[in-house]
Amino acid sequence: MTSSSFRGSPLPATLLGHPRIGRNRATKKAIEAYWRGELSAENLRRTVVDERRAVFETLKSAGLTEVPSNDFSLYDQVLDTLVMVGAVPARHRDLGLDDLDTYFAMARGTADVAPLEMTKWFDTNYHYLVPELGPDTEFTLDAAKPLQEYRQARTLGLDARPVLVGPLTFLRLAKAAPGVAGGFDPVSLVDRLLPVYEQALAELAAAGVNWVQLDEPVLVQDQPPAVLAAARTALQRLGEATNRPKILVATYFGLVREALPILREAPVEGIALDLSGDWAEANLHELAAVGGLPGKRLVAGVIDGRNVWAADLRAQLARLATLHALADEIVVAPSCSLLHVPLDVSLETGLDHDVRRWFAFARQKIDEVATLARGITAGTATIEAELRDNDEVLAHRAASPITHDPAVRERVRATTGDDEHRATPYADRAPRQAERLGLPNLPTTTIGSFPQTPALRSARARFRRGDLDRAWYTARMRAEVDHVIRLQETLGLDVLVHGEPERNDMVQYFAEQLTGFVTTQHGWVQSYGTRYVRPPVVVGDVSRPAPMTVEWTSYAQSLTPKPVKGMLTGPVTMLCWSFVRDDQPLEQTARQVALALRDEVTDLENAGTAVIQVDEPALREGLPLRAAERPEYLRWATAAFRLATGGVRDDTQVHTHMCYAEFGEILSAVIDLDTDVISLEGARSHLSIAADLSGAGYPSGVGPGVYDIHSPRVPDRAELTGMLRRALEHVPAGRLWVNPDCGLKTRDEAEVKASLANLVAAAESLR
Ligand code: GLN
Ligand code: ZN
Repeated sequence: MTSSSFRGSPLPATLLGHPRIGRNRATKKAIEAYWRGELSAENLRRTVVDERRAVFETLKSAGLTEVPSNDFSLYDQVLDTLVMVGAVPARHRDLGLDDLDTYFAMARGTADVAPLEMTKWFDTNYHYLVPELGPDTEFTLDAAKPLQEYRQARTLGLDARPVLVGPLTFLRLAKAAPGVAGGFDPVSLVDRLLPVYEQALAELAAAGVNWVQLDEPVLVQDQPPAVLAAARTALQRLGEATNRPKILVATYFGLVREALPILREAPVEGIALDLSGDWAEANLHELAAVGGLPGKRLVAGVIDGRNVWAADLRAQLARLATLHALADEIVVAPSCSLLHVPLDVSLETGLDHDVRRWFAFARQKIDEVATLARGITAGTATIEAELRDNDEVLAHRAASPITHDPAVRERVRATTGDDEHRATPYADRAPRQAERLGLPNLPTTTIGSFPQTPALRSARARFRRGDLDRAWYTARMRAEVDHVIRLQETLGLDVLVHGEPERNDMVQYFAEQLTGFVTTQHGWVQSYGTRYVRPPVVVGDVSRPAPMTVEWTSYAQSLTPKPVKGMLTGPVTMLCWSFVRDDQPLEQTARQVALALRDEVTDLENAGTAVIQVDEPALREGLPLRAAERPEYLRWATAAFRLATGGVRDDTQVHTHMCYAEFGEILSAVIDLDTDVISLEGARSHLSIAADLSGAGYPSGVGPGVYDIHSPRVPDRAELTGMLRRALEHVPAGRLWVNPDCGLKTRDEAEVKASLANLVAAAESLR
């Protein structure tokens, strides 16, 4: 443990935000207990105060004195900001609940009132709640939360820096409230919003706050000139406020580019830039090109806040040394809030000890910034022990057979363009598939999973714990497959699935069977609210030692004369929902995963599987934030998919599935996947996709989901027939598939039975 002060002066190290999950998931559990009515509001508050104190104490014991506050949240920081500026929608305010329950009503809805919409926070897997604004929105300040958290940190002797979502980011992430006439742009409210931020700054200054942090990640996206102009005006105005703390404007997740001159000229005292990973060189280059940040503090995000790898400390020291000429003061930090990484790698006792040292989770990243800060202030000699340790870790990782499997590397090198293409164009292979499968027009199918009952989940968990042996487990899963196949036959579906009872998660299931991936025990990362996920980590070269799905698919096929679809997760989705390697381009990792999947595809084919579905629901979310980088991403992403699927015979039908239908700029990439059938969301987007695809010249089969599985509602036959009729206006009957819009795992069996019966009847009525 490092001493809390270094030679009497504060350590130039900080972070932009910390995970909120609490020790042993204490905060998450307390919030859920409150929702269930098992914990009082007072006890929830107590847990929150305790867990925040634990975070502050951790930061203090790591030697940090300037730390973020107000980064804690009961649900989401955008929702907290909405509360701070008094933008609670009328429908939630009118419930007449107290503040806490109004807050949760906005997050989760009530029996009668819909929650706020939720969407992805930039290109992370965190989801925020979307503020609803309109021309009549009035803003009023409620600074209780930032003040409270600041005061708590102060009692521990810390100089806390309240974190607020900045005004531009808040407005850019908002949408027009329901019922507001089209054409309303939330950014038009900036003049009305800024006085509330000015007032917040004044209240924080009065409470003794030295620095405040305004998070403006929208500045790393392409923004229209009007938004950049609004950013300039906003920072000017807040900067000129007389009564305020020093302002740190934080950007992260990418390249500041055209926003950099605005930040440089703004009358604020500090700027945070993402100087990690892919962004480091370009942001540094641009920083030098504009002449640095004279008179300002640069919070240098040299530690990757979004990935899990131990940093190369010597390389970062060298980088920090070049920064001194570019700003008045340098403070070392992770590139973004540590919200996006797990808490502490020392909890991962199941990992090989040497491999565990390759990782840095939040706790370890805090030590990294403290170490670097000591290195730059007191000289590298003072951190020689840490540097040597780090050298050893990096050398071990670089030389490990896990990261360098010559067979995998040679195989990727030897792939050619031909491997990425089906042997025959769709028009020629379609008749062969039709002959082999003998399907009617408007064939019916499902997306893969069938309802997952608590009994099923507990069976998997007991097997995993070793309570039950493999023979028992196999029998249990087979019984489930028997049941699902019989059900589908009774319902009269045309292309069946085995139901995925053996899968805990569509990525983790495969990650556990591939070399090069590890999974964690405690690596929880917030997805939204109290929902946390444990992404697997790609640690090394990926290969597939043994078939992963063939046993289940073949067993299912043995029960029925109808075709059973093989079901795999695509390479892009495997990577988007995992932590990825930082020691080679993502494209390389994607091609390794693709070849592993290709082996599975081949084995399925050899086992007689005639239809293979490779799900890519994350294709769109992998899109880089900046438009200029998207074509390159789409190039390798689609190539990886085709590398996984391109080797099949003409009469094997390749399907893919995506959980959305507004393809927008990925439309041509989706067509480039060259699948035989694509199923997608549709029930909620009114089948607009059928028109989009046919307009773009998409040649093959399409199954716009007609049954919305996100709702317990059972659609009736007339409604489904109507949707199919509309789809038939754009897609000929020979290419239109009839299916739900996603997997059925979250529904119960009664709903599924009734809905699928109607779906089959609707298809039959149109044949
Ligand atoms: N095959 C998967 C399932 O049915 C697809 C899930 C998804 O699209 N997210 O569950
Ligand atoms: Zn889906």
